[in-house]
Amino acid sequence: MINYPSRVFEKVVSRNPNEPEFHQAVKEVLESLEVVFDKHPEYEELGILERIVEPERQIMFRVPWVDDNGDVQVNRGFRIEFNSVLGPYKGGLRFHPSVYDGIIKFLGFEQIFKNALTGRPIGGGKGGSDFNPKGKSDGEVMRFCQSFMTELCRHIGPNTDVPAGDIGVGGREIGYMFGQYKRIKNSFDAGVLTGKGLGWGGSLARTEATGYGLVYIVEEMLKDNADSFADKTVVISGSGNVSIYATEKVQQLGGKVVAVSDSGGYVYDPEGIKLDTVKRIKEVERGRIKEYVKEHPFAEFVADSSAIWMIDCDIALPCATQNELDGESAKSLVANDVIVVGEGANMPCTPEAVEILQESKIGFIPGKAANAGGVATSALEMTQNAMWDSWSFEKVDAKLEKIMVDIYKIISTTAKEYGKPGDLVAGANIAGFLKVANAMINQGVV
Ligand code: GLU
Repeated sequence: MINYPSRVFEKVVSRNPNEPEFHQAVKEVLESLEVVFDKHPEYEELGILERIVEPERQIMFRVPWVDDNGDVQVNRGFRIEFNSVLGPYKGGLRFHPSVYDGIIKFLGFEQIFKNALTGRPIGGGKGGSDFNPKGKSDGEVMRFCQSFMTELCRHIGPNTDVPAGDIGVGGREIGYMFGQYKRIKNSFDAGVLTGKGLGWGGSLARTEATGYGLVYIVEEMLKDNADSFADKTVVISGSGNVSIYATEKVQQLGGKVVAVSDSGGYVYDPEGIKLDTVKRIKEVERGRIKEYVKEHPFAEFVADSSAIWMIDCDIALPCATQNELDGESAKSLVANDVIVVGEGANMPCTPEAVEILQESKIGFIPGKAANAGGVATSALEMTQNAMWDSWSFEKVDAKLEKIMVDIYKIISTTAKEYGKPGDLVAGANIAGFLKVANAMINQGVV
């Protein structure tokens, strides 16, 4: 007789064919939960897992828009409202050509547990489109965002579903979407989107939050081992919002970031990455990271982004995208005596990589915990919006740091409690699950 989580996993695969990323995310959580069901058979009697793996609602829609040549383009839009037991659905929108149901479902599923770990009253959801903002003019991005919101606005609201950014969706896109929402609804519902501009309801420190939060939680793990970021060599993949602000915080704490990347390759700067250059290239010029070496002759550009993990470092922070760090990369990190790997992106390490790192006793903090600072600060933005107030940078940043320290404590204590000390994958999955499952039980068969 195979156990309850394995049976539910088989059902997930047959009911959601051709969605490998969703299967991967579900498998990892369900495997961690075996120890829970050994202790608590009542969850099985209540069908908790069958319910938790099924989204409450999935929306897929046409997004027609007109490009600069006057030609009509059609993209596909998604919003998956996965679980609202703890609060309004909450999670980002991803605009990237790789987006399809399976990607949004995996991200939405992860978001349920991540959001639970923040301790804030937010449910889990995710959305996006296969639209590629890269290479599009500002006008094209605006028209796309307006069309996307023309449909999405029927499904969201400050107490219903609150989207934010993710890959391909930053302050510019949130602005265009908020403007369209407001025109259609004739209502300034500040709390309907997070990651807004500072002049119109955005929160200070929201931009920095995912990257800073990642570094806070890694620092907490280092502290637990009488260590710190000071003088550590750090490799951070990606060069978007998460990577940039993780780099900033590492540098503030005395660490040296020697490499960052984008989908075209990585730059290695043995003297330490000059963050001003990266910010200008990525945030202002929306250019490619290889431009970096034009200004910094000691740096080198390698046109292979996954080779970034071959660089010798003490701490590795994958902040680009799912499955960017595979078994081979993990072996190389282990061979180079890496101390900690913290996931800034969602599911950036393959299951094989996680296994290799954990077997080698490398400190590993999964994305559900490590990148929760972004969505946690989105929840702080919602709080400020509900109060018609805005807090200082210091106030938001202090709350963020405390949330990350608390997450570290919860996941490490839970791992110990369930007989898996140091296994923070299990700790995060179990702690997130218990909170959601218990709320589902309290609320009846939902
Ligand atoms: N996209 C981010 C995440 O993966 C942030 C979501 C949000 O702020 O709602 O958690």
